[in-house]
Order: sequence, then C-alpha cells, then structure tokens
Amino acid sequence: DLVNPEVESEAEVAFEGALRPKSLAEFVGQRKVRGQLQLLLDAAAIQSRTPDHILLAGPPGLGKTTLAMIVAHESNRPLRLTSGPAIQHAGDLAAVLSSLVPGEVLFIDEIHRMARSAEEMLYLAMEDFRIDIMVGKGAGATSIPLDLAPFTLVGATTRSGLLPNPLRDRFGFTAHLEFYETEELVQVIRRAAALLSVEIDDESLREIASRSRGTPRIANRLLRRVRDYALVAGGGASLEAVQAALELYDVDELGLDRLDRAVMSIILERFDGGPVGLNTLAVSVGEESETIEAVVEPFLVRIGLLSRTPRGRIATKAGWAHFGIPRNADS
Ligand code: ATP
Repeated sequence: DLVNPEVESEAEVAFEGALRPKSLAEFVGQRKVRGQLQLLLDAAAIQSRTPDHILLAGPPGLGKTTLAMIVAHESNRPLRLTSGPAIQHAGDLAAVLSSLVPGEVLFIDEIHRMARSAEEMLYLAMEDFRIDIMVGKGAGATSIPLDLAPFTLVGATTRSGLLPNPLRDRFGFTAHLEFYETEELVQVIRRAAALLSVEIDDESLREIASRSRGTPRIANRLLRRVRDYALVAGGGASLEAVQAALELYDVDELGLDRLDRAVMSIILERFDGGPVGLNTLAVSVGEESETIEAVVEPFLVRIGLLSRTPRGRIATKAGWAHFGIPRNADS
C-alpha cells in the first residue's frame, strides 16, 4: 500500500536508513521543534548532564525515529531502540534499563503500547534513575532497589493523549510533529533524489510532494516508485513519469489512499455525510479505531475533507466535492 505511512518491509527500513538526516540542521521542516530540541540539548551540554526526557507525538512517518537518532548523534551518546509492543512485562523493561550505559538515549517507539506493569516501573526510572525489582511471590515477596545509569528517554507516540497522565507528565518536553508543507516535502524529496542519484525537475518534485500526505516517509516512497517507473519506461523522472507512476499505484491528486477513500465513502454514501462515530467507522472499513483516529483522520481533517464534531465525524463541502457526489439539499 503505497501511501500507508507505516513502514512496510525490511527493504524499506534499509532504504529509509540511507535517507535519514543525521543532524538537526539537515532535518527539514518542524522549525519550532528543531529550535526547542536544540535548546534542550545545548542546555544539557553546558551543565554536562543527560538531556531531559523527550516525548515525540505525531502521525507515523513524520520523523520521530529520525529525531531520536539525531538527539543521540548531536549529543554524542549511544542509542538503544525498542518499542512498546516489545515490552510485554515489567521484566522486559528492567532488562533494557539495567543494561543501559551512562548517558545512553533510549528510544521507545509506540510507547503507548507498553505493558501497564512496565509503565509503572518506568515512572520511577525516569524520575530517579532507579527501579524496584520484585523477588518472590505473595507474603514473602520483597523488592530490591536497583540504581540505573542516567539516561534520556525519547518516547514516540501517534497521539500524546494515548498516554496515561503520570507518564506524560514525566517528560521534560513534548514535541508535537505537524504534517509537512508541500514546499518542505519538495526539499525532502530533492535531498533524497540527490542521495539516490535520480535526476528530477522542480515540477515533478512538486507533483510528488503534493501527493505525499504531508509525510516524508510517503514522499521518499513515491520518489522510489517514480524512479522505478522512469528506469523501466525510459525518458527520466519527468512529470509524465510521476503522473503515470502514481496513477498506476492508485494515489490520487490529494495523495488519498485506499483507506482514506474507504472512510470518506462510508461517511458520504452510507451515512449521508455523517455524523458517524469513530467505532462505527472503524468497524465499517475493517480497521482498528486507533489507526483511523491517529493516521487517517488527522490528514483528512487537515486537508479539509472531514471535520470532527462532538456528535461524530462529518464530511465537509470539500469532502463531497472531492468525491464528486452531489449533496442532498437538506444535508
Ligand atoms: P514511525 O512512527 O512510523 O516510526 P517516524 O515518525 O519515526 O515514523 P521516521 O522513520 O523518522 O518516521 O521517518 C521516515 C522517513 O522519512 C525516513 O526515511 C526519514 O529519512 C524521512 N524523514 C522524516 N522526517 C524527515 C525530515 N524532516 N527531513 C528529511 N527526511 C525526513
């Protein structure tokens, strides 16, 4: 699925690795967040301490993993990567925490999906660099305190609202990543094209950028498909190649994918424009409501096709128009 912002394959992981910016200066867009992170890192450096814990919130593919790597790189510290789903028990987290070297940056992707018991262990670890390990069961159980090396936690989540308050409060700084402007995506793609030795003109860059759902991961992925198309068809990465390649992969002018279209079509055609509740929508398109809420909706809202109301999701005028469905006079 070409415009699904989640990572797909091993090959994509390798491809992304090659294109990841290594420094804040190379990181395109998110100006505010870059400035905030720079200040946080500079202040820690002056005081020779570990930088504060950082929470990165935003839809997939906007650069959370990249920023975690940059935090480690810019502050000259080793980085450990793990994810919420990999932490099923408090013991999993204890193993990671107790093996960190002093100053290490610990990145936990999808931190909202960590086990509850681990979450509680993390509170103490973040605050005091200490954990309590439970030994034994029942009345004979005791807890053994264990000191940890100081570390910086970088947590990533698709929405900060998914985290319990006590966890959210323990981050010194929360960065909300926004979808990228087309101009910023042009820069992302230009940089990637140079790294991949793909020759591409400005018009074609812009066409890819405007269909990338405001998301660098998708921009890089579309560039790759256009490169393939140009390679096979001959004639270079021209505007025609961009249009033909994206049509082949079913990406429309706004960059909507199959799931976006399915969601809009349910609201427009089955519910006459809404309001429709989140769970009804999720069941109707056969997706988890978390995906609809964190991935699909933010983009549809941002491009003005959908709006969220207390009664549910409703299609906007532009939503009706984009799908070419005549509106009932009374809706
Ligand atoms: P997920 O939450 O799904 O892991 P993510 O938010 O961590 O996604 P990344 O893996 O950091 O996203 O970024 C995806 C790809 O987009 C990477 O290949 C990276 O090179 C590129 N990218 C992301 N942000 C930027 C940026 N600001 N400038 C240039 N490239 C970027």
